[in-house]
Amino acid sequence: MLKIILDYDGTLTAEEQQVPKVARRSLLELAEEILYVPLAEVEAAHQNTRARLLAAPHEHHWEVNGVRVSYCDEGAFILNTVTMQTMLAENPAYVEAVTARFPNAEYDPVAACTNHLFHTHTGPLDVAFRPATPDALRRLIAQPEIEPLVLTNSLGDKVNRNLARLALPPIRVLGDTRQYEIDPGWTVPFNDGEPFLAVDERHTVDLRRRIYYDALTGEMSDGSRLAVVADTLSLPGALPLADGIPFALLRVSYTPDWCAAYVERHPLGAVLDDLAAILDWADALSS
Ligand SMILES: [Mg+2]
Repeated sequence: MLKIILDYDGTLTAEEQQVPKVARRSLLELAEEILYVPLAEVEAAHQNTRARLLAAPHEHHWEVNGVRVSYCDEGAFILNTVTMQTMLAENPAYVEAVTARFPNAEYDPVAACTNHLFHTHTGPLDVAFRPATPDALRRLIAQPEIEPLVLTNSLGDKVNRNLARLALPPIRVLGDTRQYEIDPGWTVPFNDGEPFLAVDERHTVDLRRRIYYDALTGEMSDGSRLAVVADTLSLPGALPLADGIPFALLRVSYTPDWCAAYVERHPLGAVLDDLAAILDWADALSS
């Protein structure tokens, strides 16, 4: 069996269409219920911060527990999250207000706040599947030697609920894979034990994502081969490539050149300009 693991957000869905709505609602909540400042002030801070990040994206990261888990320019949701975190963390008055609102955040009130905003305002969004998603999934499911699985960092209920709207035969969700969780004490059992993947002179990806590794390894325990498809590199893509698992990067409006260039020149990598191309890629892998 060849299991094709498809990332959910940004790969099956058009997250670039959802981000403006999430950002707008998050800024409104920040202004009115967390920071108690005029909406125009946080809107301007958001815009300025975003422009500054994009001027030198390799210097700004999504960090979890102080460890870089993704560069800020890799995805539309990632850029928005890093923008929110940076604009809050750099303003002492904002940090004070956020700390007052999230007093139980044991490590980092700013991270707790941005997590809260992300989950609160992405939850009620209408599903925005990419146009090719229903047909691509249906045709993958129809192939007896292929099992498609949907990959997500969330618990899977949102994903299951949204997939149900496509009225497809059942498709398994590989949830709670926490690709953003780095285990600094873990020695990677691949990549010659080297914990970092050098992408180019400006970008290095931490591979110590033990929970994600365990999820992938678990899917191979029945003798299946794997292949992963996603719209970003650091979170879902670097680990499979370093572990000998084929990875296809879906190139969309926000994909940075450095990600596509790396995947394109990797012997196990492929860059797809449309999700529909997944079928030929899967064909080539399974034959
Ligand atoms: Mg994604």
